[in-house]
Amino acid sequence: MGDLYKQDKDFLWHSMKPYNPNETVIVKEADGVTITDKDGKQYLDAMSGLWCVNVGYGRKELAEVAAEQMKQLAYYPLTQSHQPAIELAAQINELLGGGYVIYFSNSGSEANETAFKIARQYHHQKGESSRHKIISRYRSYHGNTMTTLAATGQAERKYKYEPLSSGFIHVRPPDLYRNPLKREESARERSETKAIEEAIVWEMKETVAACIMEPIITGGGILIPPDDYMGAVADICAENGVLLIVDEVICGFGRTGEPFGFMNYEVKPDIITMAKGITSGYLPLAATAVKKEIYEAFQGSEKYDYLRHVNTFGGHPASCAVASRNIQIMEEERLFERSKIQGEKLKKKLVEQLEDHANIGDIRGKGLLIGLELVKNKVSKQPLDVSFLNKIIASCKEAGVIIGKNGATVANYNNVLSLAPPLIITDEQCDTLVSTVVQAIRTVLPMEE
Ligand code: PMP
Repeated sequence: MGDLYKQDKDFLWHSMKPYNPNETVIVKEADGVTITDKDGKQYLDAMSGLWCVNVGYGRKELAEVAAEQMKQLAYYPLTQSHQPAIELAAQINELLGGGYVIYFSNSGSEANETAFKIARQYHHQKGESSRHKIISRYRSYHGNTMTTLAATGQAERKYKYEPLSSGFIHVRPPDLYRNPLKREESARERSETKAIEEAIVWEMKETVAACIMEPIITGGGILIPPDDYMGAVADICAENGVLLIVDEVICGFGRTGEPFGFMNYEVKPDIITMAKGITSGYLPLAATAVKKEIYEAFQGSEKYDYLRHVNTFGGHPASCAVASRNIQIMEEERLFERSKIQGEKLKKKLVEQLEDHANIGDIRGKGLLIGLELVKNKVSKQPLDVSFLNKIIASCKEAGVIIGKNGATVANYNNVLSLAPPLIITDEQCDTLVSTVVQAIRTVLPMEE
């Protein structure tokens, strides 16, 4: 086999190498919340791969479903149809609370691209073809393609690849740590909500097609909005004929303690995109769920009325069969609820043990999506240099725990440690995770008495 580490360096171009500055882990196998490298070292994976493996690793039933489906029908495109895709679409519609039609693709980026195309064409169908702009938020991440990067709100990820797709406008998201709520302000009065209303006014609502947001900005630093923010945004969109697209690529499938992140808030989005947890990462799959009335606007008799968008692998039978079983497992094992319960316990323990630490500015989360924001000091709230976070991550890794970091590299806001373990994590594993993270933080950042 040769030296895998050398071959890895020679032949493999990794995603986001600086994100993971330590020696690469060559993962050989995995089970539950644990991954094992090629030399037998085990790690508690508190990042679920890349926010994917919600039901945990090593689920034989998912491997079996995939194998059975491959034997029966390995591939057919959704230019025709097949049972696994039909059944999964019905299942997702039910999980969403009803009223949606599903378009399948292969990645979160594609699901968002599809959403943008549907939103723009929808307005064409309605005779409002000048509506093409899409409002997004700073700090967001929506994918790696030229259009989803245009939607992304972090210049550092984009500037080397410009020009990107045009027509994307960014506004400031809520950041309750840096801009706490003022009690007297209603959701509609707050500056972050008004920013969306003002963008629609100043861009001219007749040119605005949609607004995209994650329920909780994840990659940009795990920013939990005020409870009434999304509802207010949904109202503003509806009042102005602007579609609300919710990106559930990370938040979906139980990550935040609800089947979908938007269910923590009172909204019924027009379009919902999802990937990652849809199969718990066992096979690639993504989906764009669209309200039935939007879908129906495409069902005319004109030659050019249909959605001119084809996807060779989207809705692959094996991926759909795995996704169906994956969702069934989540329901049978009540993993949405479990995410909420374990997430609360984890957060409580982290607060108990780290609240007094001079560099821990904020500990926040919903379900098993938890962030620790590190600062130079609690008064200035200046972000702590990323080199400290890298040392903490390395120290955790050494001790057998994988954690992540988020935020934005622009202006050195890459200062949030992230914890997002599989939803099956036990109390004991939570204790190991907390003690390892606390120990690493206290070692890298000893507090002077
Ligand atoms: N949206 C969000 C919120 C994401 O976090 C990601 C990926 N991390 C994407 C979209 C893109 O998904 P993919 O990498 O599957 O294209």
